[in-house]
Amino acid sequence: MGSRVVACPSCGTKNRVPTISAGHPRCAGCHIDLPWLVDAGDADFTKAVKGKHLVLVDLWAPWCGPCRTVAPILEKLSRQFAGRLKVVKVNVDTSPSVAKRYEARSIPMMLFMRDGKVIDTVVGAQSEHVMRTLTERHL
Ligand SMILES: [Zn+2]
Repeated sequence: MGSRVVACPSCGTKNRVPTISAGHPRCAGCHIDLPWLVDAGDADFTKAVKGKHLVLVDLWAPWCGPCRTVAPILEKLSRQFAGRLKVVKVNVDTSPSVAKRYEARSIPMMLFMRDGKVIDTVVGAQSEHVMRTLTERHL
């Protein structure tokens, strides 16, 4: 199963954050809510976006310039809304099924999801302000 190693912003403890988990991650050292940002692909996407919490899916590709603008904004949101928002990054080049399912012809494309269903779609790079406002609206 996929996972990411995330350094705790508070105490620096390195934590393994799995792609699939029922609840949000907490630091093993100081127990604060950790930023919830994972990578998913065709094999684990459905399980990665399951659940009652708000999910923000980032459909991106390594060759996409605007995707590089969006990436740090989403990382910031995952820190700001730790414990309430899960950011799921999907590389469309290596995840053709997910890309097809959500018709990701133009990227970056971001999907707000809850309970596995899309509740809002954002196409193209947006400012941090726009992304934060949308996140707050859907929380
Ligand atoms: Zn910690």
